[in-house]
Amino acid sequence: MDVVAVALFGLVAGSFLNVVIVRVPERRSLWSPPSSCPGCGVAIRWRDNVPVLSFLLLRGRCRACGMAIAWRYPAVETATAALWVVAYLTFGPSPDFGVALVFLSALIAVTGIDLAHQIIPDVITLPGIVAGLVANVATRRVSIVDALVGIAMGGGIFLVIIVASGGGMGGGDMKLGAMFGAFLGWKVALVALFIAVLLGGTVAAVLLVTGRVRRKDPVPFGPFLAAGGAAGLLWGENLVGWYASGFGG
Ligand SMILES: [Zn+2]
Repeated sequence: MDVVAVALFGLVAGSFLNVVIVRVPERRSLWSPPSSCPGCGVAIRWRDNVPVLSFLLLRGRCRACGMAIAWRYPAVETATAALWVVAYLTFGPSPDFGVALVFLSALIAVTGIDLAHQIIPDVITLPGIVAGLVANVATRRVSIVDALVGIAMGGGIFLVIIVASGGGMGGGDMKLGAMFGAFLGWKVALVALFIAVLLGGTVAAVLLVTGRVRRKDPVPFGPFLAAGGAAGLLWGENLVGWYASGFGG
């Protein structure tokens, strides 16, 4: 039953993250006005705004004008609920679970915004760095030294890449790297970045080979960072062991 409650709260949180993903890049208030259809401007009634369910009942179209509702909405809601459930099964009812919800939700927002706009907003990552530090001071899951070294290392790696590549990566990636360090500590943050590079490299290679993107096309790195960060949070200690032992040797 607990899992069902966590999933339902996750769906509602996902619905809010959709608002974050749409409004943060436009610097609009998250609280007002209420959501409206981008096609006809009609305010969305509460019964048409139930996560996932309304999308299915409306067959993915605005009730007023029939404009297609982006697939991103139910996808973000479902992904949030799924990650919240995985976090609950991993951490149980504990302070670490609460910290995990904050971190995972931030990663979902980062993914949605980077896919749509190729930016990772400071308004998520800078408070995120502080939140990670405060959370670790409170829960002692990661020592404060580990977290501080993590911030320097997570941000520093990207700073080196930015300088060496002449802008191949953005400052947003750098601040997200620092946020990983704050939440995960330096060892797990390194593993998270390593997973992100593996995933991003693999997907970019597949997209290039299949002709879906050209060599010069930007492929946003934020979603891969987010995937690496989530893996680090959920399975970090195991992954550090696996990495240290030379990839499962
Ligand atoms: Zn409409």
